[in-house]
Amino acid sequence: MPLFICAGCSMRIERSMAAYWREKGKLLCSTCLDRQEMSLKTSDDDKKK
Ligand SMILES: [Zn+2]
Repeated sequence: MPLFICAGCSMRIERSMAAYWREKGKLLCSTCLDRQEMSLKTSDDDKKK
């Protein structure tokens, strides 16, 4: 698989071209994905309050 640069922390990550196109060239490593998901969940919680 080709190497890409994480859009969050510039770490080199291996992703498929399918994932690259799905994310429109903005790929995140698993650490940044976890962080993003956590902030998304947090903002969802905020909306419920
Ligand atoms: Zn990252």
